[in-house]
Amino acid sequence: MKKCLWLPISLSAVLVFSVCCKNTPTQEQKPWEWSLEKVRAEVNRIRAGKDLTPESWPDGARVAVALSFDFDAETNALRDLNLSPGTFSQGEYAARVAVPRILDLLDKYDIPASFFVPAVSALLHKEQIQAILSKKKHEIGLHGWIHERNSLLSEQEERELMQRSFDTLKELTGKAPIGIRTPSWDFSLHTLAIIKELGLLYDSSLMADDRPYEIMAEGKPTGVIELPVEWLLDDYPYFGFSRYSSVRPHIKTMDVFAVWAAEFEQAYEEGTLFVLTMHPKYIGHRSRMAMLETLIQYMQTHADVWFATHEEIARFVKEGSEVLDLP
Ligand SMILES: [Zn+2]
Repeated sequence: MKKCLWLPISLSAVLVFSVCCKNTPTQEQKPWEWSLEKVRAEVNRIRAGKDLTPESWPDGARVAVALSFDFDAETNALRDLNLSPGTFSQGEYAARVAVPRILDLLDKYDIPASFFVPAVSALLHKEQIQAILSKKKHEIGLHGWIHERNSLLSEQEERELMQRSFDTLKELTGKAPIGIRTPSWDFSLHTLAIIKELGLLYDSSLMADDRPYEIMAEGKPTGVIELPVEWLLDDYPYFGFSRYSSVRPHIKTMDVFAVWAAEFEQAYEEGTLFVLTMHPKYIGHRSRMAMLETLIQYMQTHADVWFATHEEIARFVKEGSEVLDLP
């Protein structure tokens, strides 16, 4: 430190810090210059806590299966200012064809599901929202305002959009949302605090486990339940298509069945949780719906499978856990 004393007083404190105190991280430091303490602080902001898998699922079921459909419709295109009628028509297909087809399939096998819906999609497609609600077994959860990317927003913008989405879905459905799947699974440094402010029971956007777990913030339990997701268990990486990029289907439809069935099989063996994320605009086409039906039939050949909404699973987990002080 002594060598620093000659530095002119006019130099900023930040400069003195960065020159003299190499172990103290600053904005200017590159990640490979960080102390291990700084690295730990960064990765430990949001972490997985207690495994919340219950001793057994309702009625002695071995595994909980949560089918979810992210009903984005036109919102991804709107967010990106891609105003092409061609692109919008893919979102229209989701509402016009895919959602009714999905609802019919779920009825056929008497399975409840969770629909995560950006508020703008819900406002554009009120008929579909009412159709989902009319089944009286499905859940509608938060999925942003217009599929915004939370990490690109200010804290204030993110909070305002999430509150607006919450209020809109509450008004449209007559029920306050219980959980959220963040758009694109994009979880900012402020997302968890806003989730707690809204009093949500669960999130389904993180990937630290296959099992349900409690989210920890800065090493402390938060009471928010995570029902984790994975790209492996999402239809988009298999079926997404973009004419002008390398995004395109690269696997046969029944090969996707093989991956998902193997994931289910292991979840069944472990007695934990199987969360599947799908999008009406991708899964809702005829050949893929046939594959999804085959998967449902396959899962139903197993005894003791509990098909439930995310909300039902989160509530069951909450009741079974003595350590959580949940809303
Ligand atoms: Zn989405």
